Order: sequence, then structure tokens, then C-alpha cells
Amino acid sequence: MSRVLSVTSEIYPLIKTGGLADVTGALPLALGAAGVETTSLVPGYPAVRQGLQNGGEVWHFPDMFGGHANVIRGTAGSLDLLVLDAPHLFARPGNPYNAPDGREWHDNGIRFAALGAAGAAIGAGLIPGLSFDIVHAHDWQSAMAPVYLNYHNGPRPGTVLTIHNLAFQGRFAASLFPRLGLPGSAFGFDGLEYHHDVSFLKGGLCFADRLTTVSPTYAREIATEEYGMGLEGVIQYRAASLTGIVNGIDDAVWNPATDDLIPHKFSRGRITQRAGNKTALQQRLGLRESQAALVIGVVSRLTEQKGLDMLLEHLPALIRDGVQIALLGSGDRELEFSFIEAAARNPGSIGCVIGYNEQLAHLIQAGSDALLVPSRFEPCGLTQLCALRYGSIPVVSRVGGLADTVIDANEAALTAGVATGIQFSPATAEGLEDALRRLTILWRNQPVWQRMQRNAMSADVSWRNPATHYAALYNAILAGSA
Ligand code: ADP
Repeated sequence: MSRVLSVTSEIYPLIKTGGLADVTGALPLALGAAGVETTSLVPGYPAVRQGLQNGGEVWHFPDMFGGHANVIRGTAGSLDLLVLDAPHLFARPGNPYNAPDGREWHDNGIRFAALGAAGAAIGAGLIPGLSFDIVHAHDWQSAMAPVYLNYHNGPRPGTVLTIHNLAFQGRFAASLFPRLGLPGSAFGFDGLEYHHDVSFLKGGLCFADRLTTVSPTYAREIATEEYGMGLEGVIQYRAASLTGIVNGIDDAVWNPATDDLIPHKFSRGRITQRAGNKTALQQRLGLRESQAALVIGVVSRLTEQKGLDMLLEHLPALIRDGVQIALLGSGDRELEFSFIEAAARNPGSIGCVIGYNEQLAHLIQAGSDALLVPSRFEPCGLTQLCALRYGSIPVVSRVGGLADTVIDANEAALTAGVATGIQFSPATAEGLEDALRRLTILWRNQPVWQRMQRNAMSADVSWRNPATHYAALYNAILAGSA
């Protein structure tokens, strides 16, 4: 059985700002079934300290980048956790990256260098009784772990870096470099240096034994200028070490047959029960109560990436067609305001809640007829996987993981009876318009719609398959074929 140290800045259910937390929270359990034991190292934010059970100190760092730090071992549900309890870095209000005023913490470079350095030291066997075969880092926040391990003296574990989103790179002024405690050579074009700055993600991309990203299509896309966010050169250079493994979702948390967050539980065999959730959703968002109206749901960050600005211009036409919109999201103030305004102008047709709300996210998945994900780019995307499981037809742009997880209702797929949703390309307002037109036509053909719904609910969106791919990757590294 191999032992993995997963180093991450977020982990569901303790601390989450996005899909990263879902992945790092669910993968360990699935890996367990595939013969891999995982321990997760996370920063000791207040929420993590509060959620930790059975905690006991296992190590003390007298000086961890300007203050002392303890490592506390404990659990949260089935998760085996090591918490980097460094009060001077992590005991702060706000989310993991930003102060309550929304601005990034000024010392994020030091905070996440500390996470990486601790991950590297622990991964290399610092703590007696805790040894690891692999250190698995996630995104820029822990990308320094493979960098530090590259410069570690003595035997070291294998390293994997997973890119959940290349848009976030952990870029800091070059003045940070001398504080990182690395040899000067680490700040080269084949290391941390990026346009004269320090880039944690680039460092990790250069030094991890293997790279993964969260879907095969995104793995191909990021080698291009269009999606590479300036790092396409490094990605091309490391192409032989990069694999795409599509994410799953936690099928215990997202199970319509047992979900306590929705008023009417249902399953593929009891799909008629779903109607009660649609009514509940319409009531909750002040929408006209009608089973006949097509309800399009959205659960999303409201940012440029997610493409929801493209929906705004199509709202009048949709409303004329009797379509309803149920939107939950938060992000850019301007977009938030546009949707609030649209809802105020169209009561009964557009319902909108700005904020983060786990319960409403579940109700939208269970009560909407379709779920819209019109992203301009999307490494994997999780909400379309939840939608499949909950029988809400995903309408997605054909990018990244959206391309890999939804089977478009084109003529061939409809004839073969395998379609699970609608894909559109390019990811533009025109592309979306066409997809919405196809959606409303499909909605009027209820036998075909219900067939798609059954297909969607039959899709395997669990972690079982992805976990076997990760386990195989770890084994390949250990066998020396990385
Ligand atoms: P990203 O990580 O880019 O935001 P993903 O689709 O990978 O997008 O993951 C988003 C996760 O966050 C999903 O689990 C989704 O249900 C959840 N989510 C997004 N916005 C909200 C919200 N406003 N309220 C509740 N959950 C949300």
C-alpha cells in the first residue's frame, strides 16, 4: 500500500472556496479503496482548527518563516489530517487568500511558501513514524512542495503537482526569492523565475516528477497560447510528464436518493419525485409555480471565466419563451448587480441569490431542468457532474472537462440514445444562443428529454475510476517509470 501526503490549501468540508476543496476532500477516501493511504497537510486557518477532531501535536517548528508553528495530527470524518498551525500566518479571518475587505493578504507568498516547505519536510520523513512515498501538491498554493523537495538532500518521495486552474499562478515580486531559503539557481528560467517575478506554479511545473490536470482536454488545451495563460512553453516542455485525469464528485454528498438538503429525495427509478423539488425551488426563488416552464439553473462563481455575462443578453428572449432562471452565485460586483437587477425586473421568471449557499446549490441541482455552464475555459468543472447525477441536463461550452464529461445531444448521439446534455462551441454569446435554442426544442420533446435525463443519471461521475488512474500514476512513479 503506498502512502501519499496531499498538500493543499483547501479541503472539504473544513475550508472551501471552490472545486479544489471538493477534490482534495473526496479523493483520499476513493484512493483508500484503490490501495493508497492519504494524509492531507492543510494550513491551520480558524475553520480548520475548529473542525479538527482528536488533534495532537506531532511536531514543532521553532521558526517557520518568522514565527513558530506546530504540526497537529487529527481527523475530520474519514480524513487523516496534519494541520500546519502557524498562528502568525494562518490564524486570520476572511477566506484562505483574502482579508475580509476582499484584498489578498500582503504576505501570501510567505504563507504558501511555508505550506510548501512544511509539506516537503514532512514528505521527506521529518516526523518520526510518518513516512511517505509520494507528495501530491495542488495548484500554486502548494506548488512549492516539489520545489523544496527538488533541493532536498537525501532520499525524497516522488512528487506530483495537479493543476486545478492555470489562471491562478502564485506570482510575487522577485524580492520574495531571498526569503525562500533556496539556492540561487532555483530562480532561473527553468525554475521559479517568470518575467523577472517569482511564480510558485511555474516552479512546481518545472520540478514535480509528474504533472496532472483535471481533464484530458484541459491537458491538451494548456499547451496552447489560447489557454496556456503564459505558461504554455513550460507545459509543452513537460508534455511527456503531463496527464489529464477527470475529476469525480463525492457521490455520498451528492446523492439524490439520500440528500437531506433537498425536500424530495429521488432516484433514476423514482424520477417523478423530482417534481416536488422543482416546486420547492420555484417557491424559494419567487418563480412562477409551473412544471411546464423550463427552469435553467446556475451555480457558479460569477467571473469572466464562467461566461455568465453571455447569458445576460439572452434573458429577454428566454423569458418571452416562458423559460425561468434560477441563479446562485457570487463574484464580480458588476455581474452580481446585473443579475439582481434582471431578477427585480422579471419577478416570477428570474430568481437570483447572491452568495455562497450549499443547501440552495443542492436544491438547484435537484429542482432545475437544465444547468448552464458556459465557461470560456474550464479545467474540469464539478457542477455539470452534480447536474448529471441529479437529472438536470447540463448545457456546457465545449472546453476542458466540460467537453470530456457531457455527451452532446447531436443527431448521432440522439439516434444512439446516449446523449446526456448539450455542448456548444465556440464559447461565445452566439454559440450559447444556439445551444439555448436547441435546449428549448428538446424540452418540448418530453420522451427524448426524459431519455437524456435517465442517461445523465446513469453516468459514472464518482471518484472510483479517477482514483484508479491516480493510484496507477503513483505506482508508475514508484516503479521509476515517471
Ligand atoms: P470552480 O472551482 O472554478 O469555482 P467547479 O465547478 O470546479 O468551479 O467547482 C465549484 C464548486 O463550488 C461546486 O461544488 C459548486 O457546487 C460549488 N459552488 C460554486 N458556487 C457556489 C455557490 N454560490 N454556493 C454554493 N456552492 C457553490
